[in-house]
Order: sequence, then structure tokens, then C-alpha cells
Amino acid sequence: MQLSIPTLMVMDIYILLLVGVLMLHAWSRGRRDATLGYLATALLLGTLGTVLVSLRGQGVDFVSILAGNVVLHLSAALNWTALRVFTGRRIHPPGALAGAVLWLLLCLLPMFYQSLALRVLVGSLTMAAYAGLGAFELWRSRRQLEVDFRPALALLLFHAAFYSVRAVVDRGMPFDTLDQGNAFFALLVLETLLYAIGIAFVTLAMVKERAELRYKSAALRDPLTGIGNRRAFIHGAGQLLAESKRMQRPAVVLLCDLDYFKRLNDSFGHAVGDQALAAFSQILSSRTRQQDVCARIGGEEFACLLADADHGVSLVLAERVRREFAELPFVAGAQLSVSIGIADAAQANHELTRLLSLADQALYAAKAAGRNRVEVYRETS
Ligand code: GH3
Ligand code: MG
Ligand code: MG
Repeated sequence: MQLSIPTLMVMDIYILLLVGVLMLHAWSRGRRDATLGYLATALLLGTLGTVLVSLRGQGVDFVSILAGNVVLHLSAALNWTALRVFTGRRIHPPGALAGAVLWLLLCLLPMFYQSLALRVLVGSLTMAAYAGLGAFELWRSRRQLEVDFRPALALLLFHAAFYSVRAVVDRGMPFDTLDQGNAFFALLVLETLLYAIGIAFVTLAMVKERAELRYKSAALRDPLTGIGNRRAFIHGAGQLLAESKRMQRPAVVLLCDLDYFKRLNDSFGHAVGDQALAAFSQILSSRTRQQDVCARIGGEEFACLLADADHGVSLVLAERVRREFAELPFVAGAQLSVSIGIADAAQANHELTRLLSLADQALYAAKAAGRNRVEVYRETS
């Protein structure tokens, strides 16, 4: 099938515009994610640049050679900027403007302005550079990205490779002779189109995937202390208990309740109470290991399921937490303390609800015995 160059160009412009408008729509309907905003602008500038460039040979060459290419360079730079923003980096104005400025400066040289081959060479290399930079942004942030970035990386690398090859093999042809068979030009239009559609699609997918992950993790985290909430505890502790039962490993739960907390709030204010909660959660997190499941399960109640821990180990740990909290330098005149109940998973047949109820009985005993102490659940307690 033979497609004429004007047909290809019109198709190119139409589809670029459509993808750009759809991206703008996704940006405005969603949470106005900056990545999508920059990408939408890049696509729309790409459309404008393509319109301007296609005017070559219509008697307004400077519009095509100068303005068209400057706009296309800005479009590529904004695509790179979108990926920088996605990976948590700041925009880089000098880098983003470098391609367009270089182009403008080179156009001041008649030797460059009048040589199609030179223009194709420089244009292809800067396009390849921006795509390569985009790939580099994803690659260097790969450990923090949380989402599957491989399709985007592959697309960017292919785009960079395509333009690198073009820099070597394409010397350009005047538009009016294009129809006489420059297969590379048709390939170029096609590749650019597929790239634009592809990058729009995969970036949107990455942005959505990350937003979902963040919603999920926010739903499991206590905003005040930064540790898990009750829901996270039920889920994580349930899994850990099932695992320790299967592997026949011990597990112990600590149930902690800050003492006279209402009095602390009443005497020093809610903000000071909040500080105490954050301080306690900090101590609990720093004294436990990664595999333990710790959470704030209620107002001033915390629970921690210790993996692979027996009575002896957990008693030492609970004592240390209790002492550290009681000795914490805090607001003058405020006395902090915590009571802790301990129960062993084996005593509860590894059932979470039962285990928490046993630990609660031990906690009650600690409160009854005067607070600021640790009690272990025993069958008779
Ligand atoms: P006890 O020693 O028997 O545990 O007494 P208590 O005062 O600690 O227990 P009580 O259950 O009577 O009061 C708990 C208080 O915790 C009441 C509530 O206002 C406070 N609280 C719950 N959530 C928060 C919070 O997020 N921030 C602050 N500052 N206080 C909270
Ligand atoms: Mg309480
Ligand atoms: Mg309390």
C-alpha cells in the first residue's frame, strides 16, 4: 500500500492532536498531575510543530525551518520534563530550553540554515538526546518508582535509537520530491505517531498505577504517627500469625495503652497529646524489627506482633519500650507512661482476635496493678 506524504502528514497531525487533547482531558479530569500536564503540552506542541514543519516548500521556509523545529524541540524537551517530574525531580529549564536555543543559534549560520542534511542530522541527534534523557530519568529512579516502568523505558530507548539511526542514514529530501520515494520519511512519520500514542498510554498507566498504590497505602497508614493503622494491623498480623503457625514458629503480641492520656490532653492540650503519640510510636518502631507488625490500633492504643519471638525476648523488649517512654524528656511537668500486656500466639491457637483478647486481659492487669508496667498473660491472670 502506498500512502502519499501529505496524507501521512495530515494523519499524523490529526492523531497527535487527538492524543494531546485526550491527555489534556486526563490531566484536567484527574488530580491535575504535573506529569500529565507536561505530557499534554508536549503532545500539543508536537502537533503545532508538525503543522509548521509541513509548511516547508510553501514559500515560508523560515516558519518551517525556524519556528517549526524550535516548537518540536520544545515538545521533546517537555516530554523529558514530564518524566523528570514523574520521577520526583524538579524541572530543569536550562536543559529544557537547550535544544530549541541551539537550533535557533545554528539557524543564524547560513551554512546550517541552507543545508537540509545538516538540519536533519542536528534535529535527529537532539530528539534522540531528549528521548535518551527520558529513559535515563526512569532508569536512575527505578528503585523508588513503585510502578512498572519497563514499557516506557523500552519505548524511549527505541525512539532514541530510531532517531540516532536517522541521524546517520537520512540526508533529508525536499518535500516536493518526497513522493518519489523516500521510504525513510514515511517510516519517520509512522514511528513518531506510534511513539506519541505509546508514550501517552504508558505514562498515563504509570501515573494511574502509582496513584492507586498511594491511595492503598494511605488507607493503611495512621497519618499522625506514620505507622500502620488498625486495618493494616489486622491484615499484617493475620498473615504473620498464619505463617508462624504453618512454620511452627513462636509469635507474641504486645498491646500497649498510654496511661492517663485523657489527663495529659486535658492538662497540656491535644497537640501535646499528639506529640506523645508520635514519640511513643517512634520508640516502638525503633525497638522492633522490619518483620514485626506494629500499628496504632486505637486512640492511644498500639499493638505489635513480634515474629519469631518468645516470652523472654518480648518481655525484655516491652520493658525497654516502657522504660524509654517513661524516661523520655518531654514537656515540663508532664509524666509519660505506658502499660503493656503480652500474650503468646500458642496460647490463642494463633487466632488474632483471641490473641488480642488475651493481651487485653494482661493489659488490664497491668493497669490494675498501678500502670507503667508490663504484664504477661497467664492462664490464671
Ligand atoms: P488509662 O490510663 O486507663 O488508659 O486512661 P486514659 O486516660 O489513657 O484512657 P481513656 O480511654 O480514658 O482516654 C483516652 C484518651 O485518648 C481520650 C481521647 O481524647 C484521647 N485520644 C484519642 N485519640 C487521640 C489523638 O489522636 N490525639 C490526642 N491528643 N488524644 C487522643
Ligand atoms: Mg485506651
Ligand atoms: Mg490509656
